[in-house]
Amino acid sequence: MFENLSEKLQRSFKTLRGQGTLTDENINDALREIRLALLESDVNLNVAKDLIEHIRTKALGSQVATALSPAEQIVKIVRDELVEVLGRDTARFKFASQPPTVILMAGLQGSGKTTTSGKLAQWLKKGGHRPMLVSVDVYRPAAREQLKVVAQSINAQIYEGDTKGEAAGTPLVERLAREARREAANYGCDILIVDTAGRLGIDEALMEEMALLKKQLNPSEILFVADAMTGQDAVNSAKAFNDKLTITGSILTKMDGDSRGGAALSIRQITGQPVKFLGTGEKSDAFEPFHPDRIVGRILGMGDIATLLERADEKLDKTKAEAFAKKALSGDGFTLEDFREQLRQIKKLGSMQSILKMLPSVGPFAGMQQAAANVDESQFTRVESIINSMTNKERQNSSIINGSRRKRIAMGAGVQVSEVNNLLKQHAQMSKMFKTMGAGGSKMQQRLMSQ
Ligand code: GDP
Repeated sequence: MFENLSEKLQRSFKTLRGQGTLTDENINDALREIRLALLESDVNLNVAKDLIEHIRTKALGSQVATALSPAEQIVKIVRDELVEVLGRDTARFKFASQPPTVILMAGLQGSGKTTTSGKLAQWLKKGGHRPMLVSVDVYRPAAREQLKVVAQSINAQIYEGDTKGEAAGTPLVERLAREARREAANYGCDILIVDTAGRLGIDEALMEEMALLKKQLNPSEILFVADAMTGQDAVNSAKAFNDKLTITGSILTKMDGDSRGGAALSIRQITGQPVKFLGTGEKSDAFEPFHPDRIVGRILGMGDIATLLERADEKLDKTKAEAFAKKALSGDGFTLEDFREQLRQIKKLGSMQSILKMLPSVGPFAGMQQAAANVDESQFTRVESIINSMTNKERQNSSIINGSRRKRIAMGAGVQVSEVNNLLKQHAQMSKMFKTMGAGGSKMQQRLMSQ
């Protein structure tokens, strides 16, 4: 996510390294690079121009002696301006005063509307809501079927309705929408998510239908689902939908792909409506609220520890983690069984690449983001299958694993014996490290107690 922009912007700050103060000349040099970085990342031309002018004004105004280096000054200014462009605060989700709250999902075909409807339902469920889904795409039965599958996979209510024998068209759409709202109320669902028909391009008939749905359902949110990979096209479609419907925000999907990030920076400025969520993968939980300050932190290589910690809080089993720490540090040992469990826990946080990328590229984690590019995700699966191929006894006490067992284990896991040897060596090193840490800890405890 944002690698391209991130890399280019960070390179532009390098032009200021080693400079004593900000001068008209070095500000101009840096701005030229920043402008290029924005345009090459597909940021809308007008948005880039405005940004550069704001940065220039602030930079020229900060040509005074400060404790910050010129590079740090510019990074700070760019940071503040990017946060501003993205809307500064995390956008709120609007709920109706009278349930059900209706959310109209808008967007072109293939943008990820149906997938995102499910993700949003799951996110709302986690927040204690009872969402109901309905598809009013009466033109494509396959689209309605897809939403049904999505709803089932996340265990959410769905209103299918009856479309048999009726001509596809607006009256049918209207009827389904009306019925779904009534049904949501009957089932005690406080939210109705309406997945609408998409088209390959902007189409007058589709817009009319959306306008009718808006009039009839009075939605609290009209969310434009934009495929971030399509860059400026996504921004232009967002504008067209906003002109006709006045959207309340957008959701950028496929941010896990190699989009250049420009859409994210332009869409709010062009539509005047905030980005509310990001889709970061095909799975139903690859979805996160959009926090401008955190996103800018990621773009500028400052990482996003806040999101990482939230993810850990949500996904990791705290009791297990505490029990593990206690056991490993108490000298009771760190078995391969524990190793496997730790790997499983880490995997819950996402791919190793996505975790490393959330660490700052400066300070103690320097180099981690770059290392992310070289991470071999399959390594984790291989290590896990090696441990799976051992017996319970071996997992508890790896010292009993002799040469012939190593060969058998390697065969069972489909890896080379050297990988088994490496794992055993790593495990021995980690056990030793935990023991030393544990011993150090208890010594420190004794010292504190005797004071
Ligand atoms: P719709 O036509 O707008 O309803 O789009 P779909 O929901 O059918 O999505 C189109 C394709 O995009 C599907 O293959 C989805 O799995 C995929 N997709 C949707 N959101 C994301 C995302 O955030 N990341 C990735 N990698 N794929 C996504």
